[in-house]
Amino acid sequence: MASIFTRIHQGSIPGEFVFRSERWFAILDIRPANPGHTLLIPVAEAQYLANLPGATQAELGLHLCRLTAAVKRATGCPAVNVVVNDGPLAGQEVPHAHLHVIPRWEDDGKGFRFNGKADPALAATAGKLRAAWGD
Ligand code: 5GP
Repeated sequence: MASIFTRIHQGSIPGEFVFRSERWFAILDIRPANPGHTLLIPVAEAQYLANLPGATQAELGLHLCRLTAAVKRATGCPAVNVVVNDGPLAGQEVPHAHLHVIPRWEDDGKGFRFNGKADPALAATAGKLRAAWGD
C-alpha cells in the first residue's frame, strides 16, 4: 500500500505543498512542532535515506539548503532544526524517508539536546566508521 506521503503526493489525501519537483516535494507537517514545520520528502518510496535511488540522493542537498532558507524567510525564524528519524528506533513513524525542517525561536520551549557523554572508545569507533565509509 502506498505510504501516507505518496497518497498526499498523488492527491488522494490533502496536503499543504511548499514545492514539487520531479524527485522531491515538501509539505507542511500536519502536527507542526512550530508553525512552518515542513517535511522534505522524496517521490520515490524507501524507508531509509541510504536506500533512495542515486538521482534522488544527489538532489537532496540542494533541495534541503533551499528549503531551510525558504522556511527562515517565510517564518522569520532565526534558526531551524533539520531532523531525520531514520528508522523506528529513532522515532520514525512514517516508513517513507523524509526530513523535518523545524523553525526555532528563542524560548520556544522545544529544546534539543543529545545529552552526550565522553566515549573512551571514540578512536575505535572512528576506525569502524572509516571502514564502513569504504574509501
Ligand atoms: P516521523 O516520526 O516519521 O519522522 O515523522 C512523521 C511526521 O509526519 C510527523 O511529524 C507527523 O505529524 C507527520 N504526518 C503524519 N501524517 C501526516 C499527514 O497525513 N499529513 C501531513 N502533512 N503530515 C503527517
